[in-house]
Amino acid sequence: MTRKLSLTVEGKNVAVYVHKGDLPADASFVGPVAVDCEAMGLALGRDRLCLVQISDGGDAVHLVQIAKETPAPRLQAVLADPDTLKILHFARFDLALMRHQLGVMAAPVYCTKIASRLARTYTDRHGLKDVVKELLGRDVSKDQQSSDWGADQLSDSQVAYAAADVVHLHALREKLNAILEREGRMTLAQACFDFLPARAELDVAGWPEIDIFAHS
Ligand code: MN
Repeated sequence: MTRKLSLTVEGKNVAVYVHKGDLPADASFVGPVAVDCEAMGLALGRDRLCLVQISDGGDAVHLVQIAKETPAPRLQAVLADPDTLKILHFARFDLALMRHQLGVMAAPVYCTKIASRLARTYTDRHGLKDVVKELLGRDVSKDQQSSDWGADQLSDSQVAYAAADVVHLHALREKLNAILEREGRMTLAQACFDFLPARAELDVAGWPEIDIFAHS
């Protein structure tokens, strides 16, 4: 059961597929994948994961509507694949959400928000919209951010919004890596990305707002 919508990103046509429950058997990804999640809200444990968007930066974006208490084995396999880098913006929350609900910890990961914090120390604006605007000169709409992602039928504007959240991440990673390399912070950034699954696991396991590195 697949619905298709077309999107134009920087003059390139991108097909957006909406799947119920899991990725289709014939979905395949080459290289790193951009991943994003939409949920009923922002409270881990209260708000369920509704949608996972995934794209390898090619001409397709796959949106998987997550069914309640039903596994998504094909999606889980991609998330857990040690040879597939997952690129996310603010990976910590999405990792915890997917771990909590799908039982899988996504790894290895690259977080464009952490990369931005380490690279763009001249600003405190690290939201996806701001980083994409500055580094790529592209506009991302955030007007569907708060909407009913648990709906059985997503609207065309929800589908377009959800897809837009993953289509810029590959280009963003390249721009951020260039700054991190230039400023000598790539090794530190990589160490932070490597720690992210453990940080998300702490969130799930009951240390959400506690800094275990702090003195008190
Ligand atoms: Mn999103």
